Amino acid sequence: MPRRKAAPSRVDTHLHLSRWWNDLPRTGYRPDLDYTVRGLLAEMDRNGIEYGVIIQLHEAPSVAEGLDEARRSTSEAKGRLLPVTTVDPTQGPDEVHHAIELWDRDPTIRGVKLYPGYQSFYPHDPRVEPILEFAHRRHLPVLIHQGDTLTPGGLVKYARPIEVDEVAVRYRDVPFVLCHLGNPWVHEAAELVYKNENVYADTSGLLAHPSAPLFDRMVAQSRRVVEQAIVTVGRSDRFLYGSDWPLEELQVAVALIESLDLPEADRRKILGENARRLFRLPEGKTGRSGSS
Ligand SMILES: [Zn+2]
Repeated sequence: MPRRKAAPSRVDTHLHLSRWWNDLPRTGYRPDLDYTVRGLLAEMDRNGIEYGVIIQLHEAPSVAEGLDEARRSTSEAKGRLLPVTTVDPTQGPDEVHHAIELWDRDPTIRGVKLYPGYQSFYPHDPRVEPILEFAHRRHLPVLIHQGDTLTPGGLVKYARPIEVDEVAVRYRDVPFVLCHLGNPWVHEAAELVYKNENVYADTSGLLAHPSAPLFDRMVAQSRRVVEQAIVTVGRSDRFLYGSDWPLEELQVAVALIESLDLPEADRRKILGENARRLFRLPEGKTGRSGSS
């Protein structure tokens, strides 16, 4: 099948590139994956993706080391990879304050990620507040892992979209991103996006490996639920394309959005324009502007 010339303005809002991903061999989508900055950029180029948001993993041994790794990736990628940092609020106020001190000295950070399902806290837990205050002060989005956890040790009760509602209301000018569209609580996620102007959702991690049983039907089902969520909200301007690379191949993740039964203008917004606005990125190489 001839590959369509990809528009160069796409932004992948959910990528992981870290040496602390211990179970990558089990979760990576192909054995020959070039899991380096160079490998990622090459795959982004093949899929018309100009910028990628690199989200720090909760497995990093310390905030400082995670931050350092993210900084190095960003610098090697000459700014095409945008670092999003994280801290575990259950480690106590000293750990959180130490993280914020580090973040305050780092102007390159583009957002903060929370992993409530992995670390057993609710987003409205008072221990999270200093992190939200930081995001407010720096005008940064807060990305929150939602729904299923990759490992059975996670507790998904902490990872439901409804638990984000309270902070979305209390921090009206902080943008929140519900990662993985809240899967399997996609309708709940759509309600939050509908109700709260500061809540977004990303489409990452909805698909298993292409070799998985029923993969084609999984793609069809994911297409249906993403479309349903957008119809529920009535607009597409707070939906963000993301892959969760290396869990999903970029080509497969982009194809899911390209296949949505929506006007081309909406698919373009999801694939890049919305993320450019959220992460305050410059206009695409195509110079396309003025989304409706
Ligand atoms: Zn992820």
